[in-house]
Parts: sequence; C-alpha cells; structure tokens
Amino acid sequence: MVVHTGVERLKNFVGGEWIDADAPTVGEVRNPATGEVIAEVPLGGAADVDRAARAARGAYDSWRRVPPVERARFLFQLKFLLEEHAEELARICTTENGKTLPESRGSVRRGIECVEVAAGAPSLLMGMAIEDVATGIDCESIRQPLGVFACIAPFNFPAMVPLWFYPFAVACGNTFVCKPSEQVPLSQRFIFGLIEEAGFPPGVLNLVNGGKDCVNAILAHPDIVGVSFVGSSPVAKHVYETAAAAGKRVQALGGAKNFLVVMPDADLDRALNAITESAYGCAGERCLAGAVVLTVGDSHDRVRRGLEERARNLKMGDGSNDETEMGPVISAAHRERVVGYINRGIEEGAELVVDGRPADAEGDGGYFVGPTLFDNVRPEMVIAQEEIFGPVLCLTQVNDLEQALDTIHAHPLANATSIFTTSGKHAREFKYNVEASMTGVNIGVAAPMSFFGFGGAKGSFFGDLKAHGREAFDFFTDKKIVISRWE
Ligand code: NAD
Repeated sequence: MVVHTGVERLKNFVGGEWIDADAPTVGEVRNPATGEVIAEVPLGGAADVDRAARAARGAYDSWRRVPPVERARFLFQLKFLLEEHAEELARICTTENGKTLPESRGSVRRGIECVEVAAGAPSLLMGMAIEDVATGIDCESIRQPLGVFACIAPFNFPAMVPLWFYPFAVACGNTFVCKPSEQVPLSQRFIFGLIEEAGFPPGVLNLVNGGKDCVNAILAHPDIVGVSFVGSSPVAKHVYETAAAAGKRVQALGGAKNFLVVMPDADLDRALNAITESAYGCAGERCLAGAVVLTVGDSHDRVRRGLEERARNLKMGDGSNDETEMGPVISAAHRERVVGYINRGIEEGAELVVDGRPADAEGDGGYFVGPTLFDNVRPEMVIAQEEIFGPVLCLTQVNDLEQALDTIHAHPLANATSIFTTSGKHAREFKYNVEASMTGVNIGVAAPMSFFGFGGAKGSFFGDLKAHGREAFDFFTDKKIVISRWE
C-alpha cells in the first residue's frame, strides 16, 4: 500500500542517525480514538534491517569493552530523561494506542522500572568462582555479551514492551535493533530521541520500522544472535521456530486466554472491582486481561450482577479525556474482529448480558467497542477458546475448585490467571497446581514487576528464559567457564 497523507513519514535510527528507510511501502498510523492519520510508517524489509544490524555489529566490539559501571551510567541518563519526559511519552502512547492516560502513565512507569533494574548490571552481571576445583586449579564463571540482539514488539504497550529488553541487552554489553509494532511506532520514536540525547555511542541502539517483512529479515540476519518477541501465539511460534533454526537465542511471548476464579468465600466487592479492571482496562488489549471468569458454586449470580452493573457504568471515550475509563480498540479491523466474536458468541448460544457492539451512529471515526459480558459460556465455545483481545468477558459456572483447575488446564494457552478467595487453603491449592506462569491471588492483573521474570507457559510462551528480571541477564549473556592452573 502506498499512501500520501501529508503527515510526517517516520525515519529509522541507525548508527546514531535518523535516516530515511529504504522501504518501498508505507503504512498509516492512526489515532484509534478519532481515526485520524497521525504519521506514515515505512514498512521496511531486508535492506533496512541489514543497515541496522551492521551498525549494531560495528558498535559491538567497542561497546562490550565499556566497563559495566559506565554502561550503566548511560542507562541512568536515559532513566533521568524518561522521568523528565514521562508525561509527554504517556500522551504519545495514548494518541497512538488509544488507552487512557492513567493506563499510559502506568505503562511508562513500568518501562522506566526496567531501565532502573538494568542499571544494576554491575552487580547483576557478576559471575561465580571457586578455588581448588582440583588441587591448584581454580574455576570461574564469567558472564559475557553475545553480540547483536533484536526485539519485535506488539501494538498494545508501545512504550513499555521494548523496554523489557533493550536496557538489559545493552547493560550486558550487547548492541541492539528494536522493531516496534507498525501500528504504534511513535512512542519508540520518542524514546529513541531520548536515547540519542542520553549519548549512547552510535550503533549501540538502533530502531527500524516495519511489519512482517522486517520481522522475517531480522530472523534471517546472520549478525543478529538473539531475538525477543512479544505478540500473538501463531507469530510467536513462527518467530521461535525460524530464529531457532537459524541458530539464534529466542524468547517469544505469545497470546493469552486468562481465567479468573471466584470462590464463594471471596471478598466480592474487591474481587468484582479487580475483575472489571482486568477485563476492560486497556479495552481488554492486555496479555494479562481476564477473559473468562469461572464462578465457583453459588458465587455465580452475585458475580454476574456485580459485573453487569460495573460494565454498564464504565465511561468509554477518547483516552486523553480525564473522565474516560475505557478507550477504543486499536483499529477498525480489530473492532470488526472483536464484534465478529460477539456475534459468534450469540450464534453459539451464550447469553449476551451487556452488549458493547457499536450502534450505527456511534464512533465519531474512533474504533470503539463497549464493555461486553456473556453468561452461560461453555468451555468449547469459540469465545471461550480464542483470544479476543477486546473488552469481552465470559462467565462460566463450575462446581468446585477442582473443576475450575480442569477447565483452565484444558486450554492450550497459559499466560496469567487469578483466584479470588479469603481461604488460604484454596489460595495455596490454586497457586500450587495452576499451570499459568503469572498467577494472582486476589489480584486482577498478575503483572510481574521488572525485577521478576515476565512470561507465560504452554502455548503462551516459546523459549525458556523470560523477559526482564534476573532472567534477562541469563538471556543476554553467555556464561563462560574458565578453568585455570598456574604451576
Ligand atoms: P502480532 O503477533 O500481530 O504482532 C506482533 C509483532 O509481530 C508486530 O511487530 C508485527 O509487525 C509482527 N508480525 C505480525 N504478523 C506477522 C507475521 N505473520 N510474520 C512475522 N511478523 C509478524 O501481535 P499484536 O496484534 O501486535 O499484539 C497483540 C498480541 O500480543 C496478543 O496476542 C497479546 O496477547 C500478545 N501479547 C503478549 C504479551 C505477553 O507477555 N505474552 C504481551 C503483550 C502482548
């Protein structure tokens, strides 16, 4: 698609300079609250990736020699600049993604926290050593960088998700190529302006814009040694298999269908507030969003009534307005997809309690779908199986905790889950047995902070080392063992 919209065409940041992409095609970036075109994004391919990867490779040999304590100082500078410009960045995030300003501010905060943890590299990069593994022989394990890493990001957290990766990668002495989602490239463009200002040596951090072709060029590039991916499960699997077959390290975080269990003994008011935020916050476009509520025993009717009331009262609108509680979904195509699922749920015989489908006159050009609630959803229904990634919540009644766990475990995805209960016994049984890797007890959105690992299980995650936390230092380094004898 070639479009000429008269708005700014984005550049790539390669080797310390903002350059035009080689990409022959461009896409449109739109404000989801209005439908307005706000930028043109080049849809780069092999040539653009090659330039960025070669710049990163060229910078690597000297960057790895910069002492970790000095590398960390560049991150302190970036942290300072991100703090200074946090509000501006949150507003850009809302403009291109649609989420509300408080949601954008929260995500920017989470991104900054990754920079903070990565700046601990001088301590976190330390290895291990022991004398006399045999008489007169010493052994040490040293963490070393590996070369050029890349990340491929989704649309739903434009500022935060790439920050899960590159602060850690460069803190470890690697260099980097970042590819944001082509639907939301503006937050990263802004952050890379701050990276430039922070004074990182040219080529250490590079930005390329593009979609599928750009991704496939990253997966094939011989100078890129490792790839971090976040997005839907089919693409995560493709990235994992292709990059691994090319000999790269890969961590690929995929999609989700998150179950929330409400026990009859739950503190209902708190549980319902948390579930409402989980299901409808960020318009349901969170990999940690609650998608199916499993009501245990006689909690069902109370849960249904409480969620219905809350869903009906949520104020939907442009995320940049103070009173807005839920913004639009990302695009017209995605709105169609979400509405398609609502129609499918009705056809399958689920009971539509709250209908968020837009009325004909609604919208003002924005991509709005209201909070939607289904009851009597059976696990085999498409709306209970597939990731909708919109503000659609399903209710399913189960007899007991065991049946709740069986229902959760029958699903191929296992990103996040939560239980709401006042019983320590139920909570322990749940956290001990449940397969999802991000588990909440009386928490609606079980989001690990930057000093813990982030990622799911089963079909929600491909790889073994998760995003951020200590695991990032494992992913971005090789542990070299040196065995020495000095006679
Ligand atoms: P997506 O898979 O469509 O796109 C993600 C990235 O892959 C983008 O950069 C895109 O350019 C690229 N891409 C898309 N199709 C491709 C293809 N066929 N071949 C190669 N590359 C391709 O995901 P999205 O719609 O941007 O984001 C939403 C998805 O991300 C949801 O499934 C959500 O659950 C998931 N997500 C997961 C996590 C997590 O931590 N597990 C976090 C955020 C989002």
